[in-house]
Order: sequence, then C-alpha cells, then structure tokens
Amino acid sequence: MPKKDHYVIIGNGPAGNSAADAFRANDKDARVTIISDEAFSFFYRHKLPQFVAGNIGEDDLKVRPYSVYKEQNIRLRLGQCVDRIDPEEKILYLRHMEKVGYTKLVIATGGSPRILPSLTSFEKHLRFMTGYNNAIKLMPEIQKAKTITILGGDLISFELVKALRTMKKKIFFIFYSKCFWPVELTGNMSAKICANMKKKNIEAYADDTVETLTEKGNLYTLKTASGRTFKSDLVCCFLGLVPNIGYIIGSGIDTERGVLVNEFMQTNYKDIYACGDCAQIYDPKLKDYWISIGWSNAGLQGKIAAMNLLGSSKVVKPLPKSIRDVVGIKIQTSWWDHF
Ligand SMILES: Cc1cc2nc3c(=O)[nH]c(=O)nc-3n(C[C@H](O)[C@H](O)[C@H](O)COP(=O)(O)OP(=O)(O)OC[C@H]3O[C@@H](n4cnc5c(N)ncnc54)[C@H](O)[C@@H]3O)c2cc1C
Repeated sequence: MPKKDHYVIIGNGPAGNSAADAFRANDKDARVTIISDEAFSFFYRHKLPQFVAGNIGEDDLKVRPYSVYKEQNIRLRLGQCVDRIDPEEKILYLRHMEKVGYTKLVIATGGSPRILPSLTSFEKHLRFMTGYNNAIKLMPEIQKAKTITILGGDLISFELVKALRTMKKKIFFIFYSKCFWPVELTGNMSAKICANMKKKNIEAYADDTVETLTEKGNLYTLKTASGRTFKSDLVCCFLGLVPNIGYIIGSGIDTERGVLVNEFMQTNYKDIYACGDCAQIYDPKLKDYWISIGWSNAGLQGKIAAMNLLGSSKVVKPLPKSIRDVVGIKIQTSWWDHF
C-alpha cells in the first residue's frame, strides 16, 4: 500500500488551524498533524488582556474543543517545540529528541515580543504576554500588583491598559510612537493620547527612553531620560511582535525579518509554505515584501497556504482595513474587526 501523505503544520494559532482544516477538507486520507510548543489548545490571543485581568475564564479563551480535532482526524501535538527543520530530508527535529517526517510543511509559528535595543539590558525585569504560558504566569502578579508600569505603544498595550482599568490599578503608561504599528504616531496624536488617558486617571508619557530599571524587594524603580521616576510592583512590555523564526535560521529556508515567501506563500522549498505573523510575503506589484500581523489575515493565509500546497495557485492579499478608535485616535488597520 502506498504511504499516506503527511501534512505537518508548525503552530497552533489561526494560521495553523485554518491550514489544517483546509488540508483535511481537501484530502480525506492524508495524515494531518499540528505541532505546537504551547500546551494549551487553540485560543483567542486577543482575549488574553481580559483573561489576565480576571474578567473572563479559561473556557472563554478557547476557540474550539479538543473533540473537533478527533472528529476531523487531525493530530494535535501540544507542548512540543520544533527546534530545527531539515528541508532536504523533510524532517523536523523536536526538542525532546524526536524526529517527525513530513510530505508537506506549513510554518505558522507567529511572533514573539519585540524588545527595543535600549531595553535589552533590562529584559529580566520585564513581563510579556504573547501566549497562554506567559499569561498564566502574569495573572497572579497582576492580581497582586497595586501599581503597574506599562512600556508599550502597540495595540495590545492599549487593550491591557483598558483591562487593568477595570481592576482599578494605578497605571503608568510610557508609549513609543514608532511602536503603534502600522501607523507612526505624530506629536499631536501622542499628546491627544496622553490627554485622553489623563481623563481616565492614567499617567501616560510619549517617547521617554528608559535609562535605568532596578528591582529591590519586588519594587521596580524605572528612571527615564527626561528625569521621571516611576515606582511600581510590575513592569510589562508591549512593543509589537517580531516573526518567530529563530529555529529556522541556518536550515536553508530563506528568512529575513520573517520567513520569505512568494505571493502564493511558498518558501524557496516547493513543499514548504509559511503563513501568518511569521511570514514575510512578496508582493509582485510593490516589488517588495510585507509582514501581516492580525488574527484574520493569519487565518486567511493558512487556508491559502494549504490550498496552494495541494495544487491551487491563489495569491494572498491583506484583508481590507477598517477605522478603529484607540483612546481618541482614529487608525486604519486590518486588526481587530474581522473575527
Ligand atoms: C495579547 C494579544 C492580543 C492581540 N489582539 C489582537 C486583536 O485584537 N486583533 C487582531 O487581529 N490580532 C490581535 N493579536 C495578534 C493576533 O493574535 C496574531 O496576529 C495571530 O494570532 C497570528 O496568528 P498566527 O497563527 O500567525 O500565529 P500565533 O497565533 O502566534 O500562533 C503561533 C503558534 O506557533 C507556536 N510556535 C512558535 N514557535 C514554535 C516552535 N518552534 N515549535 C512549535 N510551535 C511553535 C506558538 O506556540 C503558537 O501556537 C493579538 C496578539 C496578542 C499576543
């Protein structure tokens, strides 16, 4: 009997799950496997701020129950990290020393927190929240803290501030105009954000560089270039996401900021596609690459990557943008509104 195809997807977010669904919908016989280093099943990342604030429970995070994977005959391997890909031999090396072979591979490993170069020396004092694992660690610390400093500027930081307000925490919010991706805040916009935050009892400051951050007896003291001092129980950092590609570098798969793919989401290997936050996608019209961030773009791209691996030739484009209000500032983004 011929060996069944094995379609493997690395990553259990919207890109990975829609790729798995599309594989299964179009090939009833193949083996389909999702591998993810997170031990928690597919969940809504955008609900994490409300989760850590205690406003919603674990069940509200879940996109779908485990039974769906059983019904679909999709193998879900959670808590397993892919350390290396050998695209010539078509083998994945997992951290626990297992090797997994594939016929076709979808890389959908999302992003990790971005840290500004000026903050790298303080990293051990900073808290991040990109997944379930760091959210569950952060939750008790947030519950306990009375005062929280947030170094932010991305949309997640604004959502966290909103969630923390419901907990009546004292918040210092230092935000960076270049992190408000995909828009860069102007001086006027930043001033408006500070003024609108003040009305909500939040001390907000734009583009104030951190000079020192020290910890003594669980109290963090942060000093800035403009001479301000903030004392708080916790310092959280939300400065955007960078594609998760560390484990791919050196494999032969082309990367730059993300995994380089053409407009069909194909890498330089014909049986390997990448999609979602980890992909850097070529646009033949722009003659340049773009990185898409956002839940709905990731889901769409996962589906297209799988369909193309099975023989289609669909070109991927970003979803249309819509206007969103962030503390009185109107921005155009393909985030938020499509799910
Ligand atoms: C707190 C928060 C709030 C957000 N809010 C919004 C919002 O409101 N609207 C919006 O549009 N977007 C939002 N986003 C962004 C959105 O969640 C992402 O754009 C989307 O999840 C990207 O999907 P993805 O499938 O590409 O990657 P992810 O959802 O990041 O999934 C990547 C998966 O790959 C796994 N992985 C990574 N490396 C490995 C490895 N080496 N081995 C095995 N597995 C690995 C990860 O564990 C994870 O399961 C938010 C993100 C965060 C963190």
